[in-house]
Order: sequence, then C-alpha cells, then structure tokens
Amino acid sequence: MSISNNLQNIRKSISETALACNRDPAAIKLLAVSKRHSVHSIREAIAADQFLFGENYIQEAQEKCRVIDNAAFHFIGHVQSNKAKLAAELFTMVETVDSFKLAKALNKHLEKIDKELDILIQVNIGRDPKKSGATPEETASLLKDMRSLPHIRAKGLMTIPPFSTDPEESRGHFRNLRLLSVRCAAQNLFFDNDKVELSMGMSHDYVAAIEEGSTFVRVGTAIFGQRPERK
Ligand SMILES: *Cc1c(COP(=O)(O)O)cnc(C)c1O
Repeated sequence: MSISNNLQNIRKSISETALACNRDPAAIKLLAVSKRHSVHSIREAIAADQFLFGENYIQEAQEKCRVIDNAAFHFIGHVQSNKAKLAAELFTMVETVDSFKLAKALNKHLEKIDKELDILIQVNIGRDPKKSGATPEETASLLKDMRSLPHIRAKGLMTIPPFSTDPEESRGHFRNLRLLSVRCAAQNLFFDNDKVELSMGMSHDYVAAIEEGSTFVRVGTAIFGQRPERK
C-alpha cells in the first residue's frame, strides 16, 4: 500500500469512528509520525495533503525541518535539557513537557526568539516505570506553575499508555487522561479551557482513543509502514 492510500484509509476510519460516537470528525487531527522515515516519505505524505508530522529525535527533526518548509512538526520525544533551545525553535507544538524545569528552559529560549509555543503535558497515566511523563497527581500543580511562563501555552495533555497489542487495554488509560483534563479545565488551568487538546492513540489503538475523546492521533506505522532501524 502507498503512503497516499494509507492516509486515505486512516482519514476514512477517523471520520467513521468520530461520526459513530457523535463527534465532529474535524475535531480529530492526524499527526503523521515520521520518525526514522525519510524526507522522501514525508514529501509523499505532503503530496497527499498531510501537513502535520510528529518527530521523536531533535537532530533528525532539525535536518527535516531545514528542507521541508510547507509542513508543521510536533515534537513527541523526550526533550533533553541541552536540546530545549532547538525544541523551542523547530516545532509548532512540544507534546512531551513533563517538568517545570523543562517548561522554564523552553520559555527562556522562546523569549529570546519572541515566539509563543503550544505545549502538552505528557502524563504517565498508566504509571509505567519505563515511561516518562508527569504523574496524574502532579499534573494540575505543573499547569499552575506554568502560568508564570508567558511564552508557553498549555493546550492540553498527551499520553503513551503501557504497551499492549490489545486496544481495549489502552481504553481505560485514555479515559483517565480525559477525566484528568476535565478536572484541570474546571480549574481553568489550560490556555483555552473550552478547547482542551488530548493527544492519545497510535496505529494500533487510535480508534479506541477517538472514542475516548482524542483530538490528536499520532499514527506512524499505519501510514509509513515499518520503521527502519535507528542508525
Ligand atoms: C513512534 C510513536 C508513535 C507512532 O507509533 P505507531 O505505532 O508507529 O503508530 C506515536 N507516539 C509516539 C510518542 C511515538 O514515539
């Protein structure tokens, strides 16, 4: 299957899933996760009207951003503190902010380039010891602290549940992330509390994620195929 065909199938499945659970299909944005895939593959997706991509490695993203100027990139990997400057510059959204220290480092660089950056708090909703992310308990206070950072716009929450091939295993985690976002929105902790973003769902479980309220699905393999090994 070509990238263009895969995109068509996923868009169809996203809108059918949305309609089946009484959601507006336009409320669900598709983030094409292009990590470890070539610039050529990204261009193929752009030719099929996909203009939003997700990258996990700052250096790799930097090379891609340099040659691709007609698409936007979200960062969905772990931000090392020495990479905060590049992260602040390259992306339209950083989905993986999980500490006040990182938010402050981003804000400092954003101030220098006079840019406001959309971010999501990555929450380790399944308390997976192998995953980074704020704990559910500290998420509200992290959002409160971040209100002092004028260049950071906290748009919502992101999560990667503990890995399981069964999407039903992820569903409870997706639901918990949404409930957490509802509690935080009730305290007016987001940039726009009427339009809170939830980044959840990947190739194998995005249908369940949409049913549980996802607004960004991060789909890699189902669009681009198997990822090449990391060099
Ligand atoms: C790689 C990755 C994805 C995409 O995973 P697929 O299973 O290939 O769809 C989504 N989110 C994050 C954070 C990732 O690292």
